[in-house]
Amino acid sequence: MIHSMEAGEKPMVAAIEGVALGGGLELALGCHYRVANTKARLGLPEVTLGLLPAAGGTQRLPRLIGIPAALELITTGRHVSAQEALQLGMVDQVTEGNAVQAAMELALSVIGHPLNPCRLSLRAPVWAPDVDGVCDAALAQVKQRSRGVMAPVACVQAVRAAAMLPYGKGMERERQLMDTLFRSGQAQAMQYAFFAQRNAGKWILPNRAQWNNTKAREVQRAGVIGLGTMGQGIAVSLVKAGISVVAIETDTKQLEWGKKAVTAMLQRDAQRRGVSPPLHLLTFTLSFHQLRDVDLVIEAVFEDMNLKKRVFSDLCKVLRVNALICTNTSGLNVDELAAVTDRQPLVVGMHFFAPAHVMKLLEVVYGSRSSPEAVATAMALGKRIGKVCVTVGNCSGFVGNRMLKLYLDQSVYLLEEGATPEQVDQALEEFGFAMGIFKVGDLSGLDVGWRVRKASGLIGPDVDPVKPSRWRLGRRYCPLPDMLCQQGRFGQKTGRGWYLYDSPGSKEAKSDPEIQNFLEDYRRKYGIIPRRITSQEVIERCAFILANEGFRILEDGIAAGPEHIDVIYLFGYGWPRHRGGPMFYASQVGLSVVLEKLEHYHRVHPDVPSLEPSRLLRRLVAEGSPPIQQWKSHIKNLRSHL
Ligand code: NAD
Repeated sequence: MIHSMEAGEKPMVAAIEGVALGGGLELALGCHYRVANTKARLGLPEVTLGLLPAAGGTQRLPRLIGIPAALELITTGRHVSAQEALQLGMVDQVTEGNAVQAAMELALSVIGHPLNPCRLSLRAPVWAPDVDGVCDAALAQVKQRSRGVMAPVACVQAVRAAAMLPYGKGMERERQLMDTLFRSGQAQAMQYAFFAQRNAGKWILPNRAQWNNTKAREVQRAGVIGLGTMGQGIAVSLVKAGISVVAIETDTKQLEWGKKAVTAMLQRDAQRRGVSPPLHLLTFTLSFHQLRDVDLVIEAVFEDMNLKKRVFSDLCKVLRVNALICTNTSGLNVDELAAVTDRQPLVVGMHFFAPAHVMKLLEVVYGSRSSPEAVATAMALGKRIGKVCVTVGNCSGFVGNRMLKLYLDQSVYLLEEGATPEQVDQALEEFGFAMGIFKVGDLSGLDVGWRVRKASGLIGPDVDPVKPSRWRLGRRYCPLPDMLCQQGRFGQKTGRGWYLYDSPGSKEAKSDPEIQNFLEDYRRKYGIIPRRITSQEVIERCAFILANEGFRILEDGIAAGPEHIDVIYLFGYGWPRHRGGPMFYASQVGLSVVLEKLEHYHRVHPDVPSLEPSRLLRRLVAEGSPPIQQWKSHIKNLRSHL
């Protein structure tokens, strides 16, 4: 149809009023002229869904705006404003008024003009001596930016065809590449991720209160308690969204430190955007009394239940009776915290991820007494500050960290059994994670988990310091991370962790022969005979343990559906988008395969109870492995709080 429009003798002018994305822009490219309203946005976002613009977009756009600009737009899927489109030559005219009116005027003004120059398909290939180099550079860039993702590579190949081949041949190439992408699991995964993200905000509580029947409260003023790593990022996010913030610390030194960091982050951001930093919205203070007018407080003090309880009850003395109290705890019991307040329905978890002003994910944790209005308010606030929000139930670690713990366990068991941190990380990076799990550990600090394990009683005075037990609380335990911390190897911050760094704080991870020796000594000490561990085993044990726990989370009613778990992993834990998420990945691999593998690994490692296949997984397989969209109905039959 687009081709016949372009080939027709009647001049065609596209009037672009709102968005012309994907097929919309391809249709406009088949017209002879294009007029856009100033508010219009244009782009070819197919790559973000694992596809390419296959209605001639990869062949016409380069002929209109040149290879480098087309490559950039098609491989990133970036949307451009009408003004930028005009500068790039994508549109002929931009109007502040009615685009249809302006298009009619343009049509009248070009009566009698020859149409051939306006038919993009008739233009010669846009080859130039440097095109090969430009395409090669783009290819290298997309391969580095999106490791293992097929669509951006196919986009470069299609645009290269526009440079080298006549239009008809280029279209054939576009079609072939599209066929390959269309059949790939990657496109399915990315489309699933797109819809999962859109649905994540549609929350539902056990009492049936949900996103479309509950009104959120307006939040104009917020308090942030604790200006450490998380509090700083949270304050920045709130202020950037126009919310005034009262930030509280324990002493002047900490307060000054936090103030400096928050101010610097806001200044950098404002400078980048060419605006002035909204510093007037910030109040830094040591006094809780300054919180008396706020609508909501987010607590981000140390992960210590008693401290948090003290803070919560102190807050109740100064806050307005209807102010919400939210906690950024990584996994403590929200009900236990709510119980010390005079307002249990107004207490929810708002679990941000570090760095909080950058990471997109927000888990909104509802306790057994949290009111729908409080959940709606936290969700609306999260959305306002640009987060992808998912509601989760209250259990240790909620959804993300509950699953992460088991994934971390598997990764260190693999080291005990014969793998190296490099091998595990390489397998995970080839799978698509931006960073392997050991590099991530070094980045976030190995001492953090060490402190949590100490607080939870896993490490205590009864543990033999020379040959610590590999069996704790009735299951397999790997003391390797603790032994590393005992040596002061906390990761990047100390210049040594699972890897070696040039100096404390430096980021480039290098293999450390000391770690290889350390692992060999360890295995010798415990009589473990190392074996060769394949990348396949690394992926199976890490990915399937995540999915298995995800099934348990669904059984427990902690997440409302598998797509919510996947969104949490995509936006909070670096799960590669072209793999959909751990639950989608399990469905794609095949539930019976996942079950079989888990049974196998559990047989080999009976001391790891989390490897035992979950009841829900067994049941889904017994019922013929229904598609992921139907899992929810099977969960309801099983047992559900939803
Ligand atoms: P942090 O140690 O960097 O900062 C905590 C801050 O709280 C410190 O500056 C401390 O002075 C301040 N503080 C302590 N008691 C206080 C009080 N009574 N009043 C006011 N301020 C007080 O810790 P963090 O990493 O920012 O973690 C804070 C919370 O966020 C914890 O519950 C943690 O589990 C959670 N969390 C952390 C991360 C992470 O990656 N760091 C991610 C998600 C959630």
